[in-house]
Amino acid sequence: MRRIIASALLFVSLLSCVSLTTSQGTQNAAAIPAAIPAPGEVLGFVPGEDRKLASWNKIVEYFERLDQSSDRVKFETLGQTSMNKPFVMATISSPANLAKLEEYKQIQAQLADPRKLGAPGVRDRKAKDLIARGKTIVLITCGIHSTEVGSYLSSTLIAHRLASANDPEIQSILDNTIVLLVPSLNPDGVDIVKDWYDKTLGTPYEGTDPPELYHKYTGHDNNRDWYAFTQVETQLTVDKIHNVWRPQIVHDIHQQGAFGSRLFLPPYMAPVEPNVPRQIVEGYTQLGDWMSNELRNKGFEGITTNSTYDAWTPARAYSHYHAGVRILSETASARIASPITLKFEELRSREGYDPQKEGPNFGPVWRGGEWKLGDITKYMTNVAFLLLKHSAEYRVQWLRRFYAIGRDAVRPRRNGELFGFILDPSPTCNDMLSKILERGGVEITYLPDGKRLVRMDQPYGGFAKALLEVQRYPNLRDAEGHPIPPYDVTAHTLPLLMNTVVKPVKAPFRQPRSAPVIQVDMVADVKGEDPCRPAPRTNFPALYRAAMPAYDEGWTRWMFENLSFQYGVLTEKELRAGITTFRPGPGVTGKYYTILFPDQAPRQIHEGYRAGAMPPEISGGLGEEGVKQLRAFIVQGGTVVFLNRASEFAIDQLKLPLRNVVAGLPRTDFYVPGSILRIELDTTHPIAKGMPQETVAWAENSPVFEVVENPAGDVPAANVKIIGRYPEAKDPLLSGWLLGGERIKGKAALVEVTMGKGRVILFGFRPQYRAQSTATYPLLFNSLATNP
Ligand SMILES: [Zn+2]
Repeated sequence: MRRIIASALLFVSLLSCVSLTTSQGTQNAAAIPAAIPAPGEVLGFVPGEDRKLASWNKIVEYFERLDQSSDRVKFETLGQTSMNKPFVMATISSPANLAKLEEYKQIQAQLADPRKLGAPGVRDRKAKDLIARGKTIVLITCGIHSTEVGSYLSSTLIAHRLASANDPEIQSILDNTIVLLVPSLNPDGVDIVKDWYDKTLGTPYEGTDPPELYHKYTGHDNNRDWYAFTQVETQLTVDKIHNVWRPQIVHDIHQQGAFGSRLFLPPYMAPVEPNVPRQIVEGYTQLGDWMSNELRNKGFEGITTNSTYDAWTPARAYSHYHAGVRILSETASARIASPITLKFEELRSREGYDPQKEGPNFGPVWRGGEWKLGDITKYMTNVAFLLLKHSAEYRVQWLRRFYAIGRDAVRPRRNGELFGFILDPSPTCNDMLSKILERGGVEITYLPDGKRLVRMDQPYGGFAKALLEVQRYPNLRDAEGHPIPPYDVTAHTLPLLMNTVVKPVKAPFRQPRSAPVIQVDMVADVKGEDPCRPAPRTNFPALYRAAMPAYDEGWTRWMFENLSFQYGVLTEKELRAGITTFRPGPGVTGKYYTILFPDQAPRQIHEGYRAGAMPPEISGGLGEEGVKQLRAFIVQGGTVVFLNRASEFAIDQLKLPLRNVVAGLPRTDFYVPGSILRIELDTTHPIAKGMPQETVAWAENSPVFEVVENPAGDVPAANVKIIGRYPEAKDPLLSGWLLGGERIKGKAALVEVTMGKGRVILFGFRPQYRAQSTATYPLLFNSLATNP
């Protein structure tokens, strides 16, 4: 929004106001205030130029300049990021619309929740009037994945055109839509990537990903947080944008690998999560198909739809459960900002298409050649303006669809239909499950007996249902019968992950107690410790950090800090040098007694970056020397805890008397791509203290253990204690997808192995999965309790 900051600007701005109000879209170019800067004037280069990235400060400065010079742009800081940078948004529309933003928010709120329109009989009539007056709300989000640099740069190009152009297409967009533009969902990463890119420019490492997580805690997993809402950036986006504006369309701009299609657009490939309304599927199909068709007509090549990306997990699609379509676009990457040249033969198939062959959901074929940042920004800006054009031209249709979703959601449930869920009060983890639902806009009725009722007949009942029920992922196979991998994971049943009793109840709703019970055996009979209040340790553990960043390391760090649990960081370099001490204060040196290895591929831990791929000081992994030091630490009395895939590293390198029974099996024989399984615990073991007999295990590329005599090692099989195992007589699958479950029945999921004076604890699952699986936090915290 314009603020007159200098008298010199006053004349130009008045001229612009007069011109805008009198000429209604036919304003000629001469009347554009010269003060509206092009991105290049502020950034010092034209976005899309090879090898040029902008700092976050410069992006913010550019939007501030737009705000000052254009009456179509209102720019604001919504909060602070994980690393204390401004998290910002620009609202862009016609000056007339910007003057009435509160009114448009009210229209959205009423269409989203038709109960607000009065008795059912009058709602449609009132809605018709609101639809006539309303605007399509379009949220454009850029840069959640910071190495995908095209989109935050494109945000300046999109904003500039909207702020300065006066052709009929732009006028129609400004009149009919309100654009909420987030230049980056992860501002911290903008600078992390730019700093590394600039530092390595002109070296052999130019164009590599930075050797640290580009989101302080979650790295790439920051786009897996759209229902757990753990990170401050997710919370700001949900609280201050989604829940305030309830956009009909969310355009989330990403980049994919370099070797596939040039561009992916929806529709998504199967499966669609069953709680996504049919109108959402219709909406993203119609808009995605229309855009790809328009792009093909304009000569764009290498476009695919209905491939690679599915619509299963709510972790990536908040809007699908909040009456807005998510339009994911994925443009092919270069090497950060450095161009690449691809031969046609180098293009590789991905799920659902072959970029070398024209097909019903791919084409026309891109023949290869140079691919650079300018190509990326060109694809991105063209997609964005087509999307806005559709949003403007089909405004009434978008608003009708939005209202129809709300109307379906709030309709009374017929006899026999699911009425809602009864949740037991959960005193643990600060009632995390209820808080998640409430943040997602779900209304919770607090019943007199202390239980909670989540009704389905409310606008976001479907969001609650998705998170409260068990997932049955479809057994999808390709033409050769191989399982088709999900794009992310297959389960998100929060009551299982958070150890909460939930009972579905049918309409008509009478007595909560008569309802059937699901997963009651998961909950501890004994009142254990609050898993989110771990007892302080006299000797705090070290969290191992490999030179090659691991998301799970970041998640673990976040969980520890969020729970005020003290820990130290032990780097690859330190462990390799045999340093397992720390400095708790000036002049004081302590010793670690416990080291935690987060989930990471064994090869990444052991070998790290390949020689020559990255600077020598961060290459080579833990290596033989590090393994030797680790072994010495254990036999002298240390405890080392390995999570999930890191356990395979331990078995191999420490020559433990264990075997991973699912190692090397083809997916047709065994497959668990992110699911909730059932394990049985030996609750007499200190690590399972306070736990129920049965609990969950988040399994994702997970090892499954069997005790064997290992002639190569010096640890006898008798040194292994099994603390958790998959049940012999029950189906291990609780939620998600599991193939070959028979193979793991009775096998171990959590073991302790004594070695010399110390011990090794192996988790064959992720006990702190994305800071959601609070049910198994106690297993992790107990394993970190070491008495030297
Ligand atoms: Zn991405």
